[in-house]
Amino acid sequence: KSIEKGWNLDNSYARLPEKFFTRTNPTPVSSPKLLILNHPLAASLGLNIESLQNEDGVAVFAGNKVPEGASPIAQAYAGHQFGNFTMLGDGRAVLLGEQITPQGERFDIQLKGSGRTRYSRGGDGRAALGPMLREYIISEAMHSLRIPTTRSLTVVTTGESILRETELPGAVLTRVAASHLRVGTFEYVAQWGTVDELRILANYTIERHYPSIEANKNPYVALLEEVIKRQAELIAKWQLVGFVHGVMNTDNMTISGETIDYGPCAFMDTYDPATVFSSIDIQGRYAYGNQPYIGAWNLSRFAETLLPLLDEQQEKAIEKAQEKISNFSTLYYSYWLAGMRAKLGIYNEEKEDEALFEEILDIMKKQKADYTNTFRTLTFGTQEEKDLCESPEFAQWKKKWHARLERQEESKDFSIELMKNNNPAVIPRNHRVEEALESAVEHGDYSVMERLLSVLSHPYEHSHEQEEYAGVPQTNTSYQTYCGT
Ligand code: AMP
Ligand code: MG
Ligand code: MG
Repeated sequence: KSIEKGWNLDNSYARLPEKFFTRTNPTPVSSPKLLILNHPLAASLGLNIESLQNEDGVAVFAGNKVPEGASPIAQAYAGHQFGNFTMLGDGRAVLLGEQITPQGERFDIQLKGSGRTRYSRGGDGRAALGPMLREYIISEAMHSLRIPTTRSLTVVTTGESILRETELPGAVLTRVAASHLRVGTFEYVAQWGTVDELRILANYTIERHYPSIEANKNPYVALLEEVIKRQAELIAKWQLVGFVHGVMNTDNMTISGETIDYGPCAFMDTYDPATVFSSIDIQGRYAYGNQPYIGAWNLSRFAETLLPLLDEQQEKAIEKAQEKISNFSTLYYSYWLAGMRAKLGIYNEEKEDEALFEEILDIMKKQKADYTNTFRTLTFGTQEEKDLCESPEFAQWKKKWHARLERQEESKDFSIELMKNNNPAVIPRNHRVEEALESAVEHGDYSVMERLLSVLSHPYEHSHEQEEYAGVPQTNTSYQTYCGT
């Protein structure tokens, strides 16, 4: 039956040292109901869409049935949360196994909200419907924005309610990831494992994510370098679309370079580097403008875990680690600059570009302009950002920008093509996401969410439907996100 559904699971992580995980089955729920299934993702995984939707198929996503070939585990990890080191682990998630796709790729299939595990601490191991749908919407939007991310395969309701501030409907999300290896996984093994175990973890990571460095003279230095590069590229992409992750703890930073953990994240409307949405981030540690610095901070924690592998002599190991870490800001900045050039239709490089970009950001901040729609205004010459367009500073800047465009071979049409391809028409605006969740959770009406998902799946298509979703919220009240529900 599993074969007819297309499950083709391997369990390479469960073959690693026992210390790295705990064998745990998901806890069954009373009456599972499939709410949403990601058809394109299911197909790309080699799963059979028809048979996933019958009772037997849905039972897998609810945790009521373990598919053939699965070897369910909860993974152990540690992490720095808001700067403090803590023991964590999958407290409400179970890894069923790794799906090998028809193309031979390997993806973790993980249930989130599937009951208590050894790492649950005080938690109930469960998840509420609203936040699981929110993760589904935003992670899929990120994927369509061409940003590396974990993905969402299904959301099922459990038929059980969970207790938070009020009673909420319970749900289980199936998350698909290149892997769930985190900076926190390395922190866990570095803290409580042996150097041999650390080497096993590093070798496993290299084989799974960075096979091209396997033969390097020092593959562990190369691993550090590669992870730094992927994270620099990822965080630059976040900045370029105005994504605020909101909880960049080291346990929420993947080794694969995918975005993970869609708890308190949100997209910035008005441009302001100090933008914070998370209700618990009082200090603004994870504010939009801080994300690159936090990225470097987290990678330093990663580098520390690798020290015993980088060199036999500790001093030399530290030197190597520092050298790689110090490259992060340059790398990040070069990815960001390349992205900004694309957003402004610029093909060639000039030294003065940096100043041009800083200047428009300053003006946007001063005019309280919408980040996404400013770039749309520039792409289409519309007047979406009225206050901005009326400001003399902006007019001046535009002259400079036009002059800049003249200094390249490519025509204006080419510039516009590049801009359309790099400035999304739609992002998951907070008020749109809330509206979709309210209809779904409060009224059982999924049509609003389905329409939103469909629009968000083509963010660079500047059609009428996309236009409709470009509007900014009318109210000025600041948006807040909550995690842990
Ligand atoms: P996060 O803030 O989402 O990165 O989660 C931090 C830690 O809390 C992770 O170890 C989670 O597994 C755990 N956790 C979050 N919610 C629950 C819950 N309802 N029950 C048990 N553990 C949880
Ligand atoms: Mg997390
Ligand atoms: Mg979370």
